[in-house]
Amino acid sequence: RSPLICGMFPALADAAHTIGAVQTRNLGTLGGNLVTGVPSMDSGPTLIALDAQVTVAGAAGRRQIPLAEFFVGPRKTILKPNELLVEIVIPKRNLGKPAHFLKSGLRKGQALALVNAAASLWVDWDKHVFVAPRIALGAVAPTVIRILRAEAYLEGRPITPEAMTEAGRIAAGEAKPISDFRASAGYRRDLIAVLTRRALENAYAQAQATRNQET
Ligand SMILES: Cc1cc2nc3c(=O)[nH]c(=O)nc-3n(C[C@H](O)[C@H](O)[C@H](O)COP(=O)(O)OP(=O)(O)OC[C@H]3O[C@@H](n4cnc5c(N)ncnc54)[C@H](O)[C@@H]3O)c2cc1C
Repeated sequence: RSPLICGMFPALADAAHTIGAVQTRNLGTLGGNLVTGVPSMDSGPTLIALDAQVTVAGAAGRRQIPLAEFFVGPRKTILKPNELLVEIVIPKRNLGKPAHFLKSGLRKGQALALVNAAASLWVDWDKHVFVAPRIALGAVAPTVIRILRAEAYLEGRPITPEAMTEAGRIAAGEAKPISDFRASAGYRRDLIAVLTRRALENAYAQAQATRNQET
């Protein structure tokens, strides 16, 4: 509900809004959600897509690391027993970066993600190409993951529907979803392709809207 977060990082507010129910959200913290290390967490992908860093503090001092390197396995992070996550830092350069989060679950509320996806991008309007595209996915691997190959594919590429579809296809290939009682791996791969493409489309639409407001 923070006007600051809603204004600067609406995708993060959207992601937080999909977590559990009102009661869960009233009590839960962003830090706690990250520290659980659950692969389907809804806060991780957007924060990773915004290049968030986390500050970890313990008796030995403080260190800052990219959030993408904080997760090491299902429910496992790099935190040592005597350490706390004390800060989540989104770099200033990403203030207002167009970003979008999407989640697919079996229900609208109180549902863990079958797949969730976040994308962010800047646009070079002179060349109409992607700049610093980021794609992060949850519930499709042992940890929340960044799809570096799709990001590299998009970087500097003209912005077209085909490019976004291809990024989704690459993401589906890079992920390692499992089959369980909620969905098959194949269904999850289909979701990855669609959600990745849509997250990119929506981030781009946001970039266009911001540009229209400014010109
Ligand atoms: C009914 C229900 C539905 C849910 N639905 C979703 C959902 O849809 N999406 C989703 O992502 N999550 C969901 N969750 C998970 C839940 O929302 C998160 O796990 C919660 O946000 C954790 O945050 P917390 O502040 O409550 O942490 P806690 O539960 O208090 O702590 C979790 C763990 O992290 C440790 N910890 C907490 N903060 C720190 C810190 N700063 N540094 C070091 N260690 C720390 C604690 O010691 C503990 O081991 C759901 C949970 C419930 C109960």
